[in-house]
Amino acid sequence: MSLLSVVIPAYNEGAMIHKTAEVVSSLLSENNIEYEIIFVNDGSKDTTWEEIVNASANNKNIKGVCFSRNFGKEGAVFAGLEHASGDCCVVMDCDLQHPPKTILEMYKLWTEGFEVVEGVKASRGKESFIHKMFVKTFYNIISGSTGIDMSRASDFKLLDRKVVDSFLALPERHVFFRALSSWVGYKTAYVEFDVQERELGESKWSFKSLVKYAINNITSFSAAPMQLVTGCGIIFFIFAVIFGVYSIVKYLLGYSLEGFTTVILLMLIIGGILMFSLGIIGYYISKIYEEIQLRPRYIVSETTNGLEIKKDK
Ligand code: UDP
Ligand code: MG
Repeated sequence: MSLLSVVIPAYNEGAMIHKTAEVVSSLLSENNIEYEIIFVNDGSKDTTWEEIVNASANNKNIKGVCFSRNFGKEGAVFAGLEHASGDCCVVMDCDLQHPPKTILEMYKLWTEGFEVVEGVKASRGKESFIHKMFVKTFYNIISGSTGIDMSRASDFKLLDRKVVDSFLALPERHVFFRALSSWVGYKTAYVEFDVQERELGESKWSFKSLVKYAINNITSFSAAPMQLVTGCGIIFFIFAVIFGVYSIVKYLLGYSLEGFTTVILLMLIIGGILMFSLGIIGYYISKIYEEIQLRPRYIVSETTNGLEIKKDK
């Protein structure tokens, strides 16, 4: 019989672990699916790890991986997949915003031969207007530059062992799980789900962290910002030529050349664009720097139920 691994990243989810473990494990055992649940404690500051240890003691199918500090959700998902031994793996949030029942649908599609089952948001649930606008712009940029439709994608998905292995073999440090799982390809099915209300605790995303996440992922998926810089350069060059020809003609026709204001204005605009461009290029260089350092994506300090600690390559 095949084994299903459920990978759940958890950061300050002390209030949720017990319930999530309960709901997911009873759902899967009722449906006679052999399973393991891997909770990854992403350096929580509350009782998350104690709760995971408790849950592991009550159920040997529940395993915990504890990080030495907070490495971020993408690192936690990566570590969870690295420690999972299932023939297929489901990744879901700890707050039950991803309805566990959908796992059954995903699993069924997997038994029918699909290698990736993407959870697609039927609705985005309750989010503020600004949040929705921001998310939409972000995904439009990503979709436009990668050709992957990201607007309704989520981190809730099932991956076959082959897909997990391809994903884990990717060398980059900045993993963007949501897009990379479609980047690796494979036979894909889609399942719609309604985003549930977060039961307890609060969302870990602040506006600042969302902006950081967006910039990070756009730059790791596309060189469009750098092309924008080149584009600006070309436009300014054309403008300069036209303006130059215009001035010469004007001079030859006997007009005197005024335009102190124009000069200042042009200097400011060009200066601004130059600095902006340097910033973009600098950002890419800093990413290259971070990537070549080859630091691990996460560090595991301990595990439960005898799970072997895997070092990040
Ligand atoms: N999470 C994590 N590390 C972090 C932030 C979040 O592992 O640094 C986990 C969190 O515990 C949850 C999932 O990522 O299981 C999604 O987080 P959250 O619910 O805060 O995001 P939202 O649903 O608001 O997008
Ligand atoms: Mg959530």
